[in-house]
Amino acid sequence: MDTIDDLFGKNEAIAASLAPRHLSVEPSGGLAIVTCMDSRLDVFAALGLGDGEAHVLRNAGGVITDDVIRSLAISQRLLGTREVMLIHHTDCGMLKLTDDGFRAELQADTGVSPAFAIESFTDLDADVRQSVLRVRRSEFLPHRDAVRGFVYDVDTHRLREVEA
Ligand SMILES: [Zn+2]
Repeated sequence: MDTIDDLFGKNEAIAASLAPRHLSVEPSGGLAIVTCMDSRLDVFAALGLGDGEAHVLRNAGGVITDDVIRSLAISQRLLGTREVMLIHHTDCGMLKLTDDGFRAELQADTGVSPAFAIESFTDLDADVRQSVLRVRRSEFLPHRDAVRGFVYDVDTHRLREVEA
């Protein structure tokens, strides 16, 4: 049995054990979180968040791409969030590759150099600061005063704020 079959089966038991409920589509905490896809970072558990409290946007590295800005614009303009929390983390996969190296690898394997930016980084704190700046400078977002950046330690579970 593959992992998806396994999870699909688990959901049936989990759903059967929970009472139905309906939460608002607008996050009750007024918060959007942008973070990495890393499997060791359980955002809800690490922050004590519950269902319905925050939007969580994830990609490789927690990078502020155009698509993340698209989601934040919808989050703020349609769904009432005002604060943005950016979380990078220790031992990130994006520290282990280079833009040029990964691009060359993709091109060598497929013959095509991708149109997208790879967005690797070498300095966690510097990249958090850059990400905060990208959000603060996006005119598509009406709320840019409460944008803060953090680094999560995947071994100690501890969050550290990066001064902008
Ligand atoms: Zn990562």
